[in-house]
Amino acid sequence: MQKDLQLFTSLAEKLLTAENNDPVVDPIPTSELYEQLDLTLSEEPATDTYFEETLEKLVLNTPRTATKLFFNQLFGGRHPKATLGDLLAVMLNNSMYTYKVAGPQVGVEKEILHKICDRIGYGNDSDGTFAPGGSMSNFMAMLMARDAHAKAIPTEGVTKKMTVYTSIESHYSIPKNAAFMGIGREQVRYIDTNAVGEMVPEKLSAQITKDIAEGFAPFFVNATAGTTVLGAFDPIKPISEICKKYNLWLHLDGAYCGGVIFSSKYTHLVKDIELTDSFSVNAHKMLGTPLSCSIIVTQHKKHLYDSFSNDAAYLYQTDGDDYNLGKTSLQCGRRNDALKFWTLWKSVGSKGLEKMVDNQFYLADVARKYISNHPDYTLYSFDDSISICFNYKNIPAQRLCTALYQSGELMVGFGTFRNQEFVRLVTINSGNEKKDILHFFKILETFVEAHPSLVQSEVFQQ
Ligand SMILES: *Cc1c(COP(=O)(O)O)cnc(C)c1O
Repeated sequence: MQKDLQLFTSLAEKLLTAENNDPVVDPIPTSELYEQLDLTLSEEPATDTYFEETLEKLVLNTPRTATKLFFNQLFGGRHPKATLGDLLAVMLNNSMYTYKVAGPQVGVEKEILHKICDRIGYGNDSDGTFAPGGSMSNFMAMLMARDAHAKAIPTEGVTKKMTVYTSIESHYSIPKNAAFMGIGREQVRYIDTNAVGEMVPEKLSAQITKDIAEGFAPFFVNATAGTTVLGAFDPIKPISEICKKYNLWLHLDGAYCGGVIFSSKYTHLVKDIELTDSFSVNAHKMLGTPLSCSIIVTQHKKHLYDSFSNDAAYLYQTDGDDYNLGKTSLQCGRRNDALKFWTLWKSVGSKGLEKMVDNQFYLADVARKYISNHPDYTLYSFDDSISICFNYKNIPAQRLCTALYQSGELMVGFGTFRNQEFVRLVTINSGNEKKDILHFFKILETFVEAHPSLVQSEVFQQ
């Protein structure tokens, strides 16, 4: 083991150096993947030297998601304290289902859940768990809602046409989960958004009334705190009033931007969050924790138990349900996703988490200001969002982002809103500074200048 730990340290150091010198790795085309790297598995063991060389090559050719030039997805950076926690979780290799096996790590997880419930004003009956990602947190929410709506479903199955409501801008896990759950993709109702991408409550209400009149059984509304493309926040209060009226479960999908609960400056974006039945947040997005770290909490501990507990005499042999976390989790064996968030939170405090979130919004302001001051850019996104959507010199966003990626210059993606396609810069790496954001634009502009065909072909197309 010691020898492999030394190898680990040496590889990690090489990676850090490489990330510094070369923040974007030249991608290996899929057609050359198995030629450039020896990924084969064979009957015979590899020699130590060959194993080490191959591993190093693999590590150094993998996309670098922790660098200052990775803006491609809704995560980024590498907080050292969180990374430390995750490395320790691997070493300890507990499974979180029982206190007997996880011991004090159960307390770590419970402390995080408890503090989040407190912070968002959930009452004494609240509880939660760590799910394998935001999609699965949404799945758990929808399941609790389904079972709360009709207790018989877990035993008898779904017998009526149940409907789900979510905005047109929400995450794709909603229809996917509806399919998993026997509800059906066709029973998902996509509610229109306003000009800034927020769900329109009147449209929600109208759709529910219509469905009830047609014999459907509405049971679940998903609101989003930070839509995946624009980073928009659905208005909680009016949606919650509709949910109360029709007795529907209200979930707030905060996978992307639920982290604003830590910022006194931005928590207003999820104002009235205490009116929701469940809330999920990915600490691996705004809160700088390694993948994956997704938390779901609910005001109704009872429903969490009702939907997820199952007796198992071979598993639950000591301690009470409150400390045997397998009684409320989706999985059986479950890795310790809590420790990395705990080491981060413990070391920087809630105030440190707040600073991270505030810095992301600050960097977004920097980017928006830059775009607004430069006539070659068009801005499509709005204030109070860390997704900055823009086009440069009218270059089709897909073409620009792909060219930047293939040349190993910059990792940034594109998105669409109302048929408008644009580059989506996400300022989620809280380790970045103003100069890093300005550097992003500089690289992009220099690249375009060196590749005039990007601009010309667009003019030609028009
Ligand atoms: C990222 C995201 C998810 C999915 O989270 P995963 O951890 O990737 O499964 C769900 N909802 C929203 C709004 C997201 O941005």
